[in-house]
Amino acid sequence: MPRLATKIVATLGPASNSPEILEQLIRAGVNVVRLNFSHGKAQDHIDRAMMVREAARRAGVEVAIMADLQGPKIRVAKFAEGKVMLEPGQKFVLDAARTEPGDIYGVGLDYKELPREVKPGDVLLLNDGLIVMTVEAVHGEAVHTIVKLGGELSNNKGINKKGGGLTAPALTSKDMDDIKTAMSFQADYVAVSFPKNATDMEMARQLCNVAAAEFRHKPGMIAKIERAEAIPHLQSILDASDGIMVARGDLAVEVGNAAVPALQKRMIRMARASDKVVITATQMMESMITNPVPTRAEVSDVANAVLDGTDAVMLSAETAAGKFPLETVLEMANICREAEKAEFGELEADFKGKIFSRIDQSIAMGALFTAQHLGAKAIVAMTDSGSTALWMSRHSIHVPIYALTPRLATQRKMALYRNVLPLLMDASTDRDTALGQAESHLLNRGIVQRGDVYAITCGEPMGAPGGTNMLKICQVS
Ligand code: PGA
Ligand code: MN
Repeated sequence: MPRLATKIVATLGPASNSPEILEQLIRAGVNVVRLNFSHGKAQDHIDRAMMVREAARRAGVEVAIMADLQGPKIRVAKFAEGKVMLEPGQKFVLDAARTEPGDIYGVGLDYKELPREVKPGDVLLLNDGLIVMTVEAVHGEAVHTIVKLGGELSNNKGINKKGGGLTAPALTSKDMDDIKTAMSFQADYVAVSFPKNATDMEMARQLCNVAAAEFRHKPGMIAKIERAEAIPHLQSILDASDGIMVARGDLAVEVGNAAVPALQKRMIRMARASDKVVITATQMMESMITNPVPTRAEVSDVANAVLDGTDAVMLSAETAAGKFPLETVLEMANICREAEKAEFGELEADFKGKIFSRIDQSIAMGALFTAQHLGAKAIVAMTDSGSTALWMSRHSIHVPIYALTPRLATQRKMALYRNVLPLLMDASTDRDTALGQAESHLLNRGIVQRGDVYAITCGEPMGAPGGTNMLKICQVS
């Protein structure tokens, strides 16, 4: 089967929490496993990370582990009966001072700041927007509301304010503990929930780097774009991160469903133009949580994300808690593969008006250009940090990119880069040995045959990051 350029992120949960299923999912095309820190204890995550590494080893590939922090999800407290049924027109009080469990008249708040952050007329959306209330008045710690759209409200459901504006800091004390846990197993990526601006990302990165310093590890930082406030700061958030997630669940609640598709396209475009990665997430194959086949709309959604240029498409409950985790991944891979065929790159248009003034970046672009014009079978990037492969992968080209690195952490990080197959090579400082190894890799995998042309980039002297200064065009003899 031809390999996929698009990457698949799968969330681990009860439905996939066994070494056997995980191995199957990885063989079916999962490149990144997401550990959702909203559920489970520190030791659970540590055990799961070990399981992922083991399953990947058995499947014979490297996958990246993404630790997704819970963040300041703003929530109601619990109900005496676990839930209530709210009717339109009724009054309901969200009370930060309430200690007794909730009832049909009101409920406590996990987020104590809410009364200071809303005013009469504000619209609150609960349970992912299924319940809508307007604020009538705020008396001390109590937010008095009228229910506009009723429904079932159960324990610890999330609250969003329409248009954004709740100021909870992006990193809670739980997140800080979870960062330490994630760094103890050297998670390749850390996803930060609800960042408002670049400072939130810088702070998260600093905490991660400090916690991982003893392992000389630096995770990639992913900003989940899911707050209305983040949108005007998209560029500075991108600059402060290694990638973003189009977190359509919470984002849709804050900005309205209808605004999300256009935002998705803009975010993907901006991420690629900024040399950052981008994951498209939430409800991509939602109906497959309970059905063995996706809806036509879901098929289109996944395909369109691929055509938009996303690096990865993400599965949440589909693989974490669904009935058909394996079928979902297989189906998603299929959709991506078909969509990729319809994608056409416009390298010349991409390059137009751009100046690549760095030697390494210029070489990377030269490799793309040359490979396309010569009809090369592959591009090989020998890379220490992964930058060369990242730059190349920001442009649509039907020539597969093989990234060879002597660093395991780089290999895993590159698992998220579109159209990049990361491979490990010996830490060799001898250029000719490395070039020989690269060609053996291509031959052994049946990527090239006698007479085929491929392009290879490397740096001399070898082994210094940022040192790419050579492009060689090889013909297999
Ligand atoms: P979540 O983030 O699944 O952690 O809420 C993704 C989203 O909001 O879309
Ligand atoms: Mn979210």
